[in-house]
Amino acid sequence: MKLQKLLDELKPYGARLCAVSKKQPTEKILDLYEQGQRIFGENRPQELRDKQPLLPADIEWHLIGHLQSNKIKYVTGKTKLIHSVDSFKLLREIDKRATRLGIVQDCLLQVHIAQEESKFGFNESEIEQMLNDLAFAKLEHIRLCGLMGMATYTDDKGQIRREFAGLRQMLERLQRGFFSGQAHFRELSMGMSGDYRIALDEGSTLVRIGSLLFSEAEFA
Ligand SMILES: *Cc1c(COP(=O)(O)O)cnc(C)c1O
Repeated sequence: MKLQKLLDELKPYGARLCAVSKKQPTEKILDLYEQGQRIFGENRPQELRDKQPLLPADIEWHLIGHLQSNKIKYVTGKTKLIHSVDSFKLLREIDKRATRLGIVQDCLLQVHIAQEESKFGFNESEIEQMLNDLAFAKLEHIRLCGLMGMATYTDDKGQIRREFAGLRQMLERLQRGFFSGQAHFRELSMGMSGDYRIALDEGSTLVRIGSLLFSEAEFA
C-alpha cells in the first residue's frame, strides 16, 4: 500500500500529507479516502468546485495552485487552507469574501524560492512590507498559517535543499518577528513527488504529493 508507505515516511517528521488529486477521477480519490486519507489538494479552483460535491463532506480540501480574484468564491469557505496566496490584493479579496460569509479563511503565503521566472510568489521584503502595512492589519477574516514554496525543477539536490532551507529560515524569522507568540503560524508547505524527502529533511510540515501517490508504479 503506497499511501501507508508514504505516511510511514512522514511520521518521524510529524509532517502531514496533502494528496494532490488534480486531474484524478473521483473513484481514485475515493480509493485513497477509503484508505483513510482526508486532506486533498487541487490546483484549479473550478476543478475543486466541480469535484467537491461528488465526494465525502469530511474531506479537508486545500487549494495549492494559482488563484485569480474572480475564482475566490469557489474556494473561500470551501477549503481548509489556501496555500497559494501570492499578492496582497488577493489576500484582501479573500478577506472580503470571508467577511461576507462570516468565517475566517486560513491561508499560506506562497514564496518564490525557485530560480525559474515563471513561478508565482512573494519575496521576503514584499512579505515584510505587506505585514507592516496598515491595510493588512484591517484584514480580520483571514489567518496566515505559514509559507508555501516550490523548488526549482532540477536534478541538483543541493540547490533544492538550499531553496527549502531558505524557506524554513524565512518562516523562522517571521515567527520570531511579526508572528511572535502566534502558534498557528507554523506551516511549511514544501515538497512534491520528486523532492519531498529533501523537504522533510528541511522542516516541511505539509508535503503536496500527486503523481507518486496516484501513479500505478511502486516507489523505492
Ligand atoms: C501538481 C502539484 C503538486 C504535486 O506534484 P507531483 O509532482 O505530482 O507530486 C504539488 N504542488 C503543486 C502546487 C502542484 O501544482
